[in-house]
Amino acid sequence: MSVIIDESCITCDACLQNCPVNAIVDDSNNPTGEKRYYVQPEKCVECVDLFDNPQCAAICPSIGCITWDMPFTKEFDAHFLNEEMYKLSTKDGVAKSPAFKEKKFRSDISMSKRGVKQEVQVAPSEKEIG
Ligand code: SF4
Ligand code: SF4
Repeated sequence: MSVIIDESCITCDACLQNCPVNAIVDDSNNPTGEKRYYVQPEKCVECVDLFDNPQCAAICPSIGCITWDMPFTKEFDAHFLNEEMYKLSTKDGVAKSPAFKEKKFRSDISMSKRGVKQEVQVAPSEKEIG
């Protein structure tokens, strides 16, 4: 990842429709069994090279629902393999963890903002003017 959808998801479907790489699945297809939409970290590219910001968070009506996670890079392979909040898809029985294939991430988002429930959406007062 990427980004994470938390329990405040109201299953409105907006993010799924807005993701340019089809990285999001709905609550009925959430591989973790949680009743919320789910970002597949092995597919999410943080909208790098496609949009100025993550399009899922840009459209999500539940403010704060989508937060930054660690980059999907080999450095965080164990994180994505072992944390219960993910269930990676597999190929030939091998989990598609970062060691299998890394994904793009926003290098301008510092590590201190990742994995600590930092909102992807920026409140209007925090947005840069102009
Ligand atoms: S950040 Fe972009 S690529 Fe990742 S799930 Fe959201 S819309 Fe999809
Ligand atoms: S847009 Fe937000 S509230 Fe709607 S399904 Fe996606 S994460 Fe859930």
